Amino acid sequence: MFTIDTHTHIIPKHIPDFTKKFGYGQFIQLHHHVEGKAWMMQGEKKFREIEENCWNPEVRIKDMSKHQIDMQVICTIPVMFSYDAKPKDGLEISQFLNDDIAQIIKQYPDKFIGLATVPMQDVALAVQELERSMKLGFRGVQIGSNVNNINLSDPQFFKFWEACEKLNASVLIHPWQMMGQEHITKYWLPWLVGMPAEISRAICSMIFGGVFEKFPKLKVCFAHGGGSFLPTISRIEHGWECRPDLVAIDNEFNPKKYLGKFWVDSHVCDHKMLQYIIDLIGADKIMQGSDYPFPLGEAVPGTLVREAPLSNDTKQVILGTAAKSWLSI
Ligand SMILES: [Zn+2]
Repeated sequence: MFTIDTHTHIIPKHIPDFTKKFGYGQFIQLHHHVEGKAWMMQGEKKFREIEENCWNPEVRIKDMSKHQIDMQVICTIPVMFSYDAKPKDGLEISQFLNDDIAQIIKQYPDKFIGLATVPMQDVALAVQELERSMKLGFRGVQIGSNVNNINLSDPQFFKFWEACEKLNASVLIHPWQMMGQEHITKYWLPWLVGMPAEISRAICSMIFGGVFEKFPKLKVCFAHGGGSFLPTISRIEHGWECRPDLVAIDNEFNPKKYLGKFWVDSHVCDHKMLQYIIDLIGADKIMQGSDYPFPLGEAVPGTLVREAPLSNDTKQVILGTAAKSWLSI
């Protein structure tokens, strides 16, 4: 089956010392301590150890052939978003990351599809970089579930959504800067509790802020099966019913109206949950997404869907057809 993995991350092998260049912050650096491995360093702190498949397209292509993945959608690692940098510095980092991906999608057009990163702390610059990226052959953009703790429903982002519609850019919304993470550092809770909540925060904000009403042509995919949004949708609907004075102040419609209006990836780690989200939003809105090459992702991308008790037709939709419609390819 033709398979597109819509959720994978990539990073350039070498990153300039932006901390030194800009004179502030703790921008990620890579320390290549042994052959084929590097530490992502945030100042003196070790953020994560990564391997060659994180930066080397040739190594990724070998993995893809082993895993029966025909194409990968590639985008940066969220810690690189740098939304807290000064706007012009954020733009410079975005451009650097996008130029790296642009070269890879140009060199291997039948293997990789690019999503850009843009400096969301300054919407005008974000739109400018999105326009440049789309000219370079990107199919869309990946953004965080919030921007410096500002929700995606904030009117300052309307110009961004407008540009995404105009450019027919697919948007992947990825959890990051998890709310309250400073209080839940133990047990990896920001990843296990915070990430699903962040995605629900992003979806609820966009629904209740009327973003899908104002920009009906937006093609948005939410990572990790939509996080905790779909599993708690009836609670969210109930809140809309019982406290419209709190919930329905910017958009009058039932949140369930938006089921089937956006995409999610398939990374839910459980066949029953996969069936549940199919029942809620339709298989044509669920796309193979693995979070490759990270350990909390799917170890062999595509396994959950391939081994699920689903018809071959449904599997093909999730493994490839849904992504083609999201990406307009
Ligand atoms: Zn991811």
